[in-house]
Amino acid sequence: MKQFKTITIIAISAILIALVYSQLESKPKENKKMEKMPVEKTDAEWKKELTPEQYRVLREKGTERPGTGEYNLHFADGMYKCAGCGSNLFGSDTKFESHCGWPSFSEIKDKSKVKEIKDTSHGMIRTEVVCANCGGHLGHVFDDGPTSTGLRYCINSVSLDFAPDTNKSKNK
Ligand SMILES: [Zn+2]
Repeated sequence: MKQFKTITIIAISAILIALVYSQLESKPKENKKMEKMPVEKTDAEWKKELTPEQYRVLREKGTERPGTGEYNLHFADGMYKCAGCGSNLFGSDTKFESHCGWPSFSEIKDKSKVKEIKDTSHGMIRTEVVCANCGGHLGHVFDDGPTSTGLRYCINSVSLDFAPDTNKSKNK
């Protein structure tokens, strides 16, 4: 009987320890204090405005499956905007085919439009690109670009909206 009691106590302790650890593990992710952004919305508001896939990528730093994005092989003249807030991000003249499966750009329209953050997730050291206006996750920037800038902004298509340039076709 004594032995049974001891086993019960050990089992309960183990469960309690496991519970405490699971709580601790989920905490560090939220420790990172988000910087104040010009466009701030609650998670509920973002969920209402964005599609589930946009929410997963923009707000939860997800990545769309390569080769599936609407703008991956899209080469019309115009402006690529943040799908979260409409900020002008990339001009179509900087887009190139990188064969990596995501829309790729050699240059940002205006450096102040994005924030670059060191990202060490998934065992890699990368530079994350987020919208400076709403904090939405856009993708990553790499320094192996084929153009003169040497940069390759690898951006999730779902994080972008496209506004066609109607003047450009008129001027031609
Ligand atoms: Zn934005």
